[in-house]
Amino acid sequence: MTGPRPTGYAARHSTLPGMAAIPFTEGLFTWPADEPRLIGSRCPVCGVTTFPVQTSCPGCPSREMEEVLLETHGTLWTFTTQEFRPKEPYKGPEDPERDWQRYGVGYIELGDAVRVESRLTVSDPTKLHIGMEMELRIVPFGTDGEGNALVNFAFAPAGIEH
Ligand SMILES: [Zn+2]
Repeated sequence: MTGPRPTGYAARHSTLPGMAAIPFTEGLFTWPADEPRLIGSRCPVCGVTTFPVQTSCPGCPSREMEEVLLETHGTLWTFTTQEFRPKEPYKGPEDPERDWQRYGVGYIELGDAVRVESRLTVSDPTKLHIGMEMELRIVPFGTDGEGNALVNFAFAPAGIEH
């Protein structure tokens, strides 16, 4: 963390559909929250950290994982761009009747603890490079069947407002 910030998360991200928006998938990040964090789990025996939460350790026989909040900043470990609509059961905000929109996807290394697979807010590969600093964002992610606004997590190049 880089210390206190001058304003709350919602104030800096006024394009969000409001704090009433619903997480696209439950349990991945703290929400609503001024400073949203991804929710992972850590093994108290061997220290392995996972995202998302797992109930038993992938690195040792332990079956007691502790919930941890992950760092909000990390580095881009690798990335690609999704150039075509994934096969079913793809779920996402895009309207199937409209043209496919390319998006970036990558692995973000958070500290030395864990690599997180995430959508990226940037889809232009010329604006991405391995090792660049990235930060967590909560972004609009379409609506559910009842018209409620959904949000999902994504990573953005650090320090760039969208
Ligand atoms: Zn373990």
